[in-house]
Amino acid sequence: MSRPPGNAALAPFGTTIFSEMSALALEHDAVNLGQGFPDTDGPREVLEAARQAIAEGRNQYPPGPGYPELRTAIAEHQRRFYGIEVDPNSEVFVTVGATEAISATMLALVQRGDEVVMFEPYYDSYAATVALAGGVRRTSVLRFPDFAVDEASLRAAFSDRTRLVLLNTPHNPTGKVFTRAELDLICSLAREHDAWVVTDEVYEHLTFDDATHIPVASLPGMAERTLTISSAGKTFSTTGWKVGWVSGPAEAVAAVRSVKQFTTFSASGPFQLAVATGLALPDEVYASLASSLAGKRDLLLAGLAEMGIATAVPSGTYFVIADVASLGVTDALDFARTLPERAGVACVPVSAFCDDVAAARGLVRLAFCKEDHVIEEGLDRLRRFIG
Ligand code: PMP
Ligand code: GLN
Repeated sequence: MSRPPGNAALAPFGTTIFSEMSALALEHDAVNLGQGFPDTDGPREVLEAARQAIAEGRNQYPPGPGYPELRTAIAEHQRRFYGIEVDPNSEVFVTVGATEAISATMLALVQRGDEVVMFEPYYDSYAATVALAGGVRRTSVLRFPDFAVDEASLRAAFSDRTRLVLLNTPHNPTGKVFTRAELDLICSLAREHDAWVVTDEVYEHLTFDDATHIPVASLPGMAERTLTISSAGKTFSTTGWKVGWVSGPAEAVAAVRSVKQFTTFSASGPFQLAVATGLALPDEVYASLASSLAGKRDLLLAGLAEMGIATAVPSGTYFVIADVASLGVTDALDFARTLPERAGVACVPVSAFCDDVAAARGLVRLAFCKEDHVIEEGLDRLRRFIG
């Protein structure tokens, strides 16, 4: 065959850094602080609800938009936590994890030549799905250690071809929670350029200290141009269930549905019902996960500080960014690729999420969504390696 298989738009992306690093962790029996997934189960009630749904025979295709029980629970969740009103029938749509919500939304809203503004480091699927849709990404860099929004570069990323802003707060990989002032700036630029805002809020319940997650759709004048994406994976420690959703104006949700009906149509039937149960759990369940994660963050931060490694203190998510340049490392990508074999620890190089690779040359991301003894073992191994 004269033309090789493979979509040319995806040629720059290769294998995701998560698959690469988890494979290396397995190969070298390393402590996996790379790919972000918890190593303990979430709320008992949620697990039990899945077992019950299977036992009750809810095992066939759910409706394309998702089970009504789940769509209603999502709408109630938006009202309860944020005062956002969405119609469960026309403004809420269930997807195969946030990953499918992102890809279907990009394929629905972005056409060839449209520009998508995003911050970097960006979650890896953002760049790939914008490329698949034929769009062009325009980025503004968040810089270590405070990862503050740089107004000048953000303004410069907008143009008359801007179709949407793809935002992520709380932010993977930096752990940043965008402030009200930063969100106001982003929203005013989106309005000025008549752009949509697609906001990935999968870590909405994983915030620490005084940080407050502000959903973009709750800001004045934004609900009509915002599509909000979230997922049960982080909130209920069920990353393998792949239940996500998107909510926003009916017309935009319908556009997402037009794509999704031909990619997966529907998925995860019994898990959808279990997530509906989870979303109705009392506030304490949400708060206890966040406070347990804050303790794990502190454990990891203290261990890294003891080794003289500079870090940024995350206000949310599963992740700490560490500056390994302080160890004499000049290329964090090479460092991360060889660490599983040399130290028995896996991490993720931040440059995998960047166009401006120089801004991330010394940075790696370490996940703390692990049992304390696993974090301690990872720190011990790093200590021995450095020492
Ligand atoms: N967005 C961000 C920012 C993420 O970190 C992740 C993965 N944890 C996803 C989307 C994908 O979510 P899901 O596992 O629900 O597909
Ligand atoms: N979101 C997870 C992370 O950032 C990984 C998800 C995936 O493997 N695609 O580590």
